[in-house]
Amino acid sequence: MHSQLRNLQREITGLSTSDGAGVKLLRSLGSGPHARLDPFLMLDEFSSVNPGDYIAGFPPHPHRGFDTVTYLLDGHMRHEDHMGNVGHIQSGGVQWMTAGRGVIHSEMPEQVEGRMRGFQLWINLPAREKMKPACYRDIQPDQIPVITLASGGFVKVIAGDLTVEGKSVQGPIHGVSTEPVYLDVMLPPHSQLSVDLTLNHHAFVYTYEGKVQIGDRVVNNHSAGVLSDGDRVELSSLDQETRFLLLAGKPIGEPVVQYGPFVMNTRAEVEQAVMDYQNGTLTQAPA
Ligand code: FE
Repeated sequence: MHSQLRNLQREITGLSTSDGAGVKLLRSLGSGPHARLDPFLMLDEFSSVNPGDYIAGFPPHPHRGFDTVTYLLDGHMRHEDHMGNVGHIQSGGVQWMTAGRGVIHSEMPEQVEGRMRGFQLWINLPAREKMKPACYRDIQPDQIPVITLASGGFVKVIAGDLTVEGKSVQGPIHGVSTEPVYLDVMLPPHSQLSVDLTLNHHAFVYTYEGKVQIGDRVVNNHSAGVLSDGDRVELSSLDQETRFLLLAGKPIGEPVVQYGPFVMNTRAEVEQAVMDYQNGTLTQAPA
């Protein structure tokens, strides 16, 4: 079968910002209305050894209409929601939360010193799923399969199915309608990785250590590199050990209207979400 290689189409640089009660982070996807890649709405990277950058955390706040995926590389976060659910995310673990109709939650560091590093990704839901009940999937580090590469590198498969170098694994996340692929990759200096991706799904890489070369272009550190269409991507490290995320998903193709933590299809639906939040009915199923 003819293989169509994906190229680097555009770069979305991670911009310094803060969110929650003053957590410092780098926002690439989601840093502006044109910096999205359907179905992906936002990607934040947080990384600091200075508690002042993360200690205030994210006190109670709402979400409606999408999934949030928190992947912690280093640190310990405590999650609590309006229903009294408590969860812990520790180094190497993932929380996959479907906000659906509504969640009010807090995401707070459960440490007073040391390194806090990780990502929060927002994945949109199609209109028919935006008002479904909230749910959580907590994934422990040992539930995330790892493929060791011939180069000495590795690929962690958080979501999706992956076959590389003749080895196949299934990630722990299934049944998401946008069919997301979420990989965390390490490549030693001067090494390559080839990954098969579904032809028309949107895909991007996010580099968080080193730089990644795709074709004759390079994705800079702390940047999202949006890929063109194709069924395969070839990624290379340069002269240093490189770490990056590779994300892909099926585009939804619906209008996106966002107001802060509410992402709906129309302005009226966003206004309804704001009203529901003010009335205390954001998270309640209709009578
Ligand atoms: Fe949140």
